[in-house]
This record gives sequence, C-alpha cells and structure tokens, in this order.
Amino acid sequence: MKAIKAIIFDLDNTLLDRTSTFRSFTNVFIETYFNHLEMTQEICERIIYLDQDGYKDKSELFSQLIDELPWSGVIPQKLDLLNFYTTEYVKCAILMDRAREVITHFRKKYTMALITNGQTLIQHGKINQLGIRDDFDLIIVSEEAGVKKPNPRIFEMAIEELQLKPEECVYIGDHPINDIEGAARIGMETIWIKVKILFEWSAKIWIQTCCEQLKNCLRKSLLKQGN
Ligand SMILES: [Mg+2]
Repeated sequence: MKAIKAIIFDLDNTLLDRTSTFRSFTNVFIETYFNHLEMTQEICERIIYLDQDGYKDKSELFSQLIDELPWSGVIPQKLDLLNFYTTEYVKCAILMDRAREVITHFRKKYTMALITNGQTLIQHGKINQLGIRDDFDLIIVSEEAGVKKPNPRIFEMAIEELQLKPEECVYIGDHPINDIEGAARIGMETIWIKVKILFEWSAKIWIQTCCEQLKNCLRKSLLKQGN
C-alpha cells in the first residue's frame, strides 16, 4: 500500500443524509400540494417507498404520483413537479451526522475530492446547500463529466486531475458496485459505508464507521510507508 494522499467521497448516502433529505423534501411537497388533507402520513410513506432511495428516475416517480395521489382540483403537470423538485429538493439537503467534523479534520492533511452520479444542477445545488464546496479540491458530477460510476473513466478523471496514482487515493461510498467495485477496479483503496443496510441508524453509525475505517486505512498506509 502506498501512502494515501487523497480522500475521495461519494455524495448521496455518504456525506449527504439522503434519507433525512428526501423525507424533508416530501414534507415540503405535501405541505404545498396536499394541505387539503388532514392525514398525510400514508402519502408521505408512499412517496418515500416509490422513490426507491433515489434510484427511480424522477420523471417516472412523478408520473406515478400524478396517477396515484389524491390531488385537489387541477392536477399539476409532470414538468411543474419536476421543476418543483429541482428547486426544493436541494434546499432540503442535510449532512450526515457529524460529517462536518470528519471533513474539517481530514481536510487539514489530505487532498479532498468528491465524485457523484447525478444531474449537474441538483448535485451542485446540494453541495452548495451543505456548505462543503470549499472543502474539496475537486468535484466531479457525472452529468457534466459525461460518464458515471461505476465506469472506471470517471475515477481516472479524478486521479488525472489530482495528479495522483490510484493507490494513493481512498474512495469512500455506500454503493457496492457504483462506488466500491468502480473505484477498486482502477486500484484505489476503498471504504464501504453500509448506510442502507443499517437504514434507520444510518446517520448515527456513519461517523463511527467512516472514521474507524479511514483511520485504519491511513494507519496501514503509514506503517507500510515506514517499512
Ligand atoms: Mg451514494
């Protein structure tokens, strides 16, 4: 193992607490479109279920919501709902519990980068909302990069830009294929944050898992360097 010089993060479900973020957006959505209803818990859970943790295409999600939900009066157009999502969702972005401390701590010693799959406008909007833009030396969003994880090209773009070797980088993400397999395929060290498996405790376990594994990884790299 070479000395680690850069720590590269995924965004959704790694630095961004997507479960809390989407739930917060769902509440805003319901307040806006369903204030004629007294009981909205069932609608809230249904929207969260249909979203499939963000992996469902939003156009498909809003088509389903238009068909299924008990709208009052004129039903909005899908485009209106997509525009509502683009502007409102980013405002709901919430960091993982204590992620700010982790970023601030490692920022002092390591190059920091972020590689995220998604739409340029939304991913950058969330990064701004979280207030973490200035903590990263490099941010790659798949839409503007023209390639997405797990394609090795997006990871190669990062190391080329950072002028590092893959083994000098540790990649931290929650998705076993997009993040872990993708980064490992070009030779990066990887840390798998198993957020979705521990679903409801995600924010609480994040700091522990992330920090412990990161420290182990960096310790190993330093020991090896000393040998
Ligand atoms: Mg993710």
